[in-house]
Amino acid sequence: MELKKFDAHIDGKKVSPSNGEYFETINPFTSQAWGRVARCSQQEVDLAVAAASKAFEGAEWSGITSSQRGGLLRSIGDILGDHADELAQLEVRDNGKLISEMAIQCAYIPQWYYYFGGLADKIEGSVIPTDKADTFNFTTLEPLGVVAAITPWNSPLLLLSFKLGPALAAGNTVVIKPSEYTSTSTLRFVELCELAGLPKGVLNVVTGYGGEVGNALVEHPRVAKVAFTGGSETGAQVYAKAAKTLKRCTLELGGKSPNIVFDDADLEDAVKGAVSGIFAATGQTCMAGSRLLVQDAIYDEFVESLVDFAGQAKMGDPMDKNTQVGPVTTPPQYKKVLDYIEIAKGEGAEVLLGGVPASDKPECGESKYFIEPTVLGKVENSMRIAQEEVFGPVLVIIRFASDQEAIDIANDISFGLAAGIWTRSIKRAMKVSKAIRAGTVWVNTYRAISYMSPFGGYKMSGLGRENGMEAIREYLQTKSVWISTADETPNPFVMR
Ligand code: NAD
Repeated sequence: MELKKFDAHIDGKKVSPSNGEYFETINPFTSQAWGRVARCSQQEVDLAVAAASKAFEGAEWSGITSSQRGGLLRSIGDILGDHADELAQLEVRDNGKLISEMAIQCAYIPQWYYYFGGLADKIEGSVIPTDKADTFNFTTLEPLGVVAAITPWNSPLLLLSFKLGPALAAGNTVVIKPSEYTSTSTLRFVELCELAGLPKGVLNVVTGYGGEVGNALVEHPRVAKVAFTGGSETGAQVYAKAAKTLKRCTLELGGKSPNIVFDDADLEDAVKGAVSGIFAATGQTCMAGSRLLVQDAIYDEFVESLVDFAGQAKMGDPMDKNTQVGPVTTPPQYKKVLDYIEIAKGEGAEVLLGGVPASDKPECGESKYFIEPTVLGKVENSMRIAQEEVFGPVLVIIRFASDQEAIDIANDISFGLAAGIWTRSIKRAMKVSKAIRAGTVWVNTYRAISYMSPFGGYKMSGLGRENGMEAIREYLQTKSVWISTADETPNPFVMR
């Protein structure tokens, strides 16, 4: 059977790759290719950037009022809401995440367009009370131009919306480069945005590989900003390349987040929080609570309950609403997770649960990419398994004695994306959340995010913030306008 073909989307049209090349997109549950996606190259990147530049200048986008722009964003929210189930199914087919999670995620995505649509006509400059006589000085906040949005495979449309909500509300145009593993939902998403009335060329999608199209976008002289989500190593390369043309960057990168259970925690809640922090989404989230820190006094009891609870997680078809753990999304990621389990064993970690592939289980169907939820004990924070991001269903447990020791272990890492704290003491929660060097801290909960609340990393977990009011500033630049009201021209040889 011929596989369905997916072309790039440029200036409102489907565009076949000039080199005629396509690559297969695979369903991680069936391990079968189900589509062929355009392998774009520099030529399509040039076309997409040209289309986005033209749209940025064009009357249909730059000529409309900010309230009209806000209205368009709200229409996008409406159409995305109407098609949430369809988009969720496309996401699951490409990334193997649970339909139960993706359905909720896709139904939530419209909120980004309602919220940032509401902000579009509240972007205000100010009047500066200057120190100079007979002058009037005011500022305006203006869009940057063409933004390159580069996204990973784990939550393609949600992470894209973190970028598009503020980028469009601010009046920019965008060229999107989705992950080569999950291109199809983004292509459909952009079609829907245009059906909602978004002018052609405001959003464009170039599909293909990071080192090819991603790199070409980052180096393109007419791209003003790169909004990137992905691994820290790739993010650092993108940042270095973007610096050559002084592009703005927001970078949402990796993590190895500490989830800290104190001896006064509600243990039942904390067990559920620890499990949802790592095994939901098969550990494939940047904010995974992959380093579990457990206090001495409750260590044995807690670890026993955790292993027991995690051991009951139901693996299987991600399209089945009862499945709790799905496959790993990509073949390289599958290999990486298994390699890390071996590294951990070599470092002296003890496998308390899992640690092996699970694809031979009947409930895992034809998939080659299942790994048992894995819990590792006897882990020291200095080990590679405690310091490096695995991005899979692997939890390490580290024992601590005092609050200060927990803080020191939590911070002794190059990442700083998120952290969890489980305690009944508000004093402890306040003290520890202040001391932790991470962009998000959750107390007695884990993985809560919202379009309203800033999200981003400290240290190697990123630069800038997405979501919330401050996200829109990442897509604006300030212009200062001076007007002379003097009756006479001042001395031209002296600075005013
Ligand atoms: P990745 O870094 O391999 O790829 C991310 C995107 O960058 C893809 O579209 C890829 O094609 C592109 N890319 C790769 N090389 C490039 C290059 N040289 N120039 C330009 N673009 C390039 O990451 P991934 O494997 O797709 O995703 C997993 C990573 O993403 C994890 O590290 C995870 O923690 C991180 N992530 C972070 C957040 C966050 O908000 N902080 C959210 C989700 C995922």
